[in-house]
Amino acid sequence: DRIARERDREFSQFRDQLKDAEDLKLEESVFDEATYAAIYKLVQDGHIVAFGGPISTGKEANVYEALGPEDTDVAVKIYRINASNFQQMRDYLEGDPRFEGIRGDKKSVVLTWTQKEFSNLQRARAAGVRVPEPIAVQRNVLVMELIGEEDDHAPTLHDVAIENPQTAFEVVREYMRRLYDAGLVHGDLSEYNIVVYEGELVVIDIGQAVTIHHPNAGDFLERDCENVAAFFSRLGVDVDGDSLCGYIHEN
Ligand code: ADP
Ligand code: MN
Repeated sequence: DRIARERDREFSQFRDQLKDAEDLKLEESVFDEATYAAIYKLVQDGHIVAFGGPISTGKEANVYEALGPEDTDVAVKIYRINASNFQQMRDYLEGDPRFEGIRGDKKSVVLTWTQKEFSNLQRARAAGVRVPEPIAVQRNVLVMELIGEEDDHAPTLHDVAIENPQTAFEVVREYMRRLYDAGLVHGDLSEYNIVVYEGELVVIDIGQAVTIHHPNAGDFLERDCENVAAFFSRLGVDVDGDSLCGYIHEN
């Protein structure tokens, strides 16, 4: 009918605009037809007003800056359906009671993964861990609060000079403890997945976080502890992986 045709026309226009946008040309393969449709839905729902430039192009996902409603800035993380390491992604879904019985094909795994990052952000927030506020998820596209300013997203802990490493360490340790109490292990925690903004530490990249039901949850926690302890001990903090893990288990 006429309305459907009108909608199709609007969608094609929108898609062509996106395709023409210089910044989105970086990685053609990310944007299959269904991904454009997902972005379009997010625009129609008012979560995205205009696309900005790319913040990061990673192995599994690209992150873009965008304008949200009422002059807010948002980060848009778009997972690749053709993620090269989807086997590994599937392994991370194991034992998670939230995603029991999902299909194991590439597309289902990546869509579930995106949903998982959204749910993990919600759960981390509820547990009092500072993470970007999750705003919306549509298919393989996640919209969240942008940490930092437009055109000036927050640097990672790796990229800044920290004034007081001991205090920063204690904050990260507390985040790890709260996350664990909420039944989650980050699984890729390091100075690269913590950003610094206005004196606050913000944990990001929480898609791979597993629930404590995961058969490797203990190993992942140990690895997180090793990474975090190694980083802070280089800055002179008296800590090692074992004592950090012990702290998280005991408190
Ligand atoms: P990857 O899996 O590719 O590492 P991340 O979620 O870590 O994906 O995002 C990649 C980079 O994008 C981060 O290192 C950070 O610089 C930036 N980034 C991601 N999310 C946000 C956000 N919400 N606000 C600001 N910067 C972000
Ligand atoms: Mn990351």
